Amino acid sequence: MTRATKENYYSEEECTVKSILTQNEISFFKKELEEQKKKIKSNLNISSAEMDEIINYDPKDEGDYASIALEQSLGNKISDRQADNLLLINKSLKKIKHNCYGICALCEEPIRTERLKIKIFAEYCISCREIIEKERK
Ligand SMILES: [Zn+2]
Repeated sequence: MTRATKENYYSEEECTVKSILTQNEISFFKKELEEQKKKIKSNLNISSAEMDEIINYDPKDEGDYASIALEQSLGNKISDRQADNLLLINKSLKKIKHNCYGICALCEEPIRTERLKIKIFAEYCISCREIIEKERK
């Protein structure tokens, strides 16, 4: 599993700031996220059980052992990037459930709706995204 995938793991405790989106907006994003999830699933041609395995993957619980098992069962079917996207989608769905979707993971300010519409599983606002990208260079 890539480092990015581990970072994508989300727990309820991280949800400290509540979403400011309206119910209508939330329903729109939820529907979009579920569609994208379905699309990835059919592109990969994996079963629901295999997808659950990716989504429920918890690096905190089982450490490297789980990662090896997951790579062995799915390694040739799914790329790290696809797995990461799937996890990001699922993470966004969890955030919707806990009412903190659309909040920047770094500065905890709301992410602009226009940005979310372009990048539905965006985790950071534009300013924070720029800071992160500069640091990675
Ligand atoms: Zn931010």
